Amino acid sequence: MDAGALGLISSQTPTPEAERCAWGEKFIPYLSSDLRDIGGKVLDGVRLSAKDGLALFHSQDLLGIGSLANIVRERKNGQAAYFVINRHINYTNICRNRCRFCAFSCDESDEDAYTLSLDDILAKAEEMSGVGLTEFHIVGGLNPKLPFSYYLEMLSALRERFPEVHIQAFTAVEIDFLAEISGLTVREALAELVDAGLTSLPGGGAEIFSPIVRREICPEKISGERWLEVMREAHQLGLYTNATMLYGHLENEYDWVEHLLQLRQLQDETGGFLAFIPLAFHPKHTDISWLSGATGYQDIKMLAISRLLLDNFPHIKAFWIMLGTKLAQVSLGFGVDDLDGTVVEEHITHAAGAETAQALSKQELIRLIVEAGRVPVERDTLYQKLTSYK
Ligand code: SF4
Repeated sequence: MDAGALGLISSQTPTPEAERCAWGEKFIPYLSSDLRDIGGKVLDGVRLSAKDGLALFHSQDLLGIGSLANIVRERKNGQAAYFVINRHINYTNICRNRCRFCAFSCDESDEDAYTLSLDDILAKAEEMSGVGLTEFHIVGGLNPKLPFSYYLEMLSALRERFPEVHIQAFTAVEIDFLAEISGLTVREALAELVDAGLTSLPGGGAEIFSPIVRREICPEKISGERWLEVMREAHQLGLYTNATMLYGHLENEYDWVEHLLQLRQLQDETGGFLAFIPLAFHPKHTDISWLSGATGYQDIKMLAISRLLLDNFPHIKAFWIMLGTKLAQVSLGFGVDDLDGTVVEEHITHAAGAETAQALSKQELIRLIVEAGRVPVERDTLYQKLTSYK
């Protein structure tokens, strides 16, 4: 991606919640010189440009960037740090795309290939009864053998058995696939899925929008443009979604800024994104395992800069499964206001070598948040506050 193109989508719109405060004025001189103008803009609530985004990624002043991100985080969410009692279900790992960065997917003939039956899915869902579950998070591969009715039946069965649990399911990539196999438009397919019980979409599949990098890491996957189109359709139908970006592989800082600003632009248009979740690439067992993946420094910096550039996103989430609980906890002081949830069982990142646990209890999440000096708030999928543990 060339730097010149970035200027096309930059903007200087002030955000309403901003106000310059006395301590802020004193704080600016402590920023490294490359961050002082940006610091002034953050204090004044002026939208950051693509050029500012690049300057942030080029800066080594991690504490300065983090302090600025923390100002925005506290303006938007105060001291609250959110979590959700959720259960991940990965219904199949058979996928026709076989993205090069993905260690989870299999061909049908592979020894590890699996597809969960409806009974398997209900049994996994049932394991969580009695622990206050409020969300199912359901994603899987693009399995050519599964008919559209499999997805509708899965949603209907979960909706019938767990009427109070929110079903966040199917990335934009899966939605595009479901439209294809059902012969419906994306909007029609989404409407049928909503009728069956779908209540929001996760943010996966965005990877990195740069067509050049996408051709290298996931040549069979829908384009970034198509991912944004599917999200636009979902938002226009009234569905909330999340958004992600996969970093730490072949992309560069221009690709990061371009990706973030394209998300910001769609959010200006629809307001349908709830949270942004930067996802660190895990190389183990992938086709690009010679890459070394992101470092902790990059993880924290990415979260903080995301908070600064995505001024119209309510929430920035640190997915502890990928970051590890220690870094996720520290990120609560660097722009992050959400640690995701209990998860319970996760195959996608663990297939790529993640060494984190499969689950965290509610008590563990509360402890991590309290020790980071924040107020734990249990939320539902749509960020309605359920319980505050002050
Ligand atoms: S990332 Fe998703 S689309 Fe790509 S191979 Fe893995 S499961 Fe399939």
